[in-house]
Amino acid sequence: MLRDCDLNEISDGRRYLLSDMVKADCHDCKGCSACCHDMGTSIVLDPLDFYRISSYLKYSFEAMLNNQIELNIVDGLILPNLKMAETHDKPCVFLNESHRCAIHPYRPGICRIFPLGRLYENNSFSYILQTKECLNDQKSKIKVSKWIDTPNVKQNQHFITDWHYFLKELHERLLAQGDEAMIKKVTMQLLHFFYIEPYQPEEDFYTQFYTRFANFKSLFL
Ligand code: SF4
Ligand code: SF4
Repeated sequence: MLRDCDLNEISDGRRYLLSDMVKADCHDCKGCSACCHDMGTSIVLDPLDFYRISSYLKYSFEAMLNNQIELNIVDGLILPNLKMAETHDKPCVFLNESHRCAIHPYRPGICRIFPLGRLYENNSFSYILQTKECLNDQKSKIKVSKWIDTPNVKQNQHFITDWHYFLKELHERLLAQGDEAMIKKVTMQLLHFFYIEPYQPEEDFYTQFYTRFANFKSLFL
């Protein structure tokens, strides 16, 4: 989800790379689960997030639409996001009774990096430290690569970049065409190609993703 805002207002103004130290370590959150509540539609799932969670739960896209995910328009395209429960404090559907994440090893990328965020520039991205999001004001320094806890991190960064700029280009092209029927068709195909068509849990995600990516681009870009 894109945010158009002043970097100095939401962060310490720095751009962080994997090898940098950043004051983000909130010591296992120690009983706090504030950022797992009332997040609205902001925890948008990319195809890797969806692959991880659906493979773990062994749920199809349609099954997850019953309880775990919902569809919303994000930057002009329809994408899935994690649901918040409809109780008074609106916890994420994966927050368990002990106020811990029930899918911790498979949690989405946005949750993995929090309170870091991503700043996209020049066909790449860096991490930023969001200074108004985490309630813990006693955070310690930690290396970015350790904090984000992401396997195959370089490959993951390529994927994150490719996916972001692909969505951006797709949205811009659809806007320029201004053909409502085409927008609807392509948006539905996007969901089919990258979420609804089941992934093979035992096969490498990135191989499966880039096959779909090439096929989609040859048809619609
Ligand atoms: S607000 Fe900060 S300390 Fe609280 S759960 Fe989120 S990351 Fe952890
Ligand atoms: S997936 Fe886990 S870490 Fe992310 S918001 Fe839900 S409970 Fe919190």
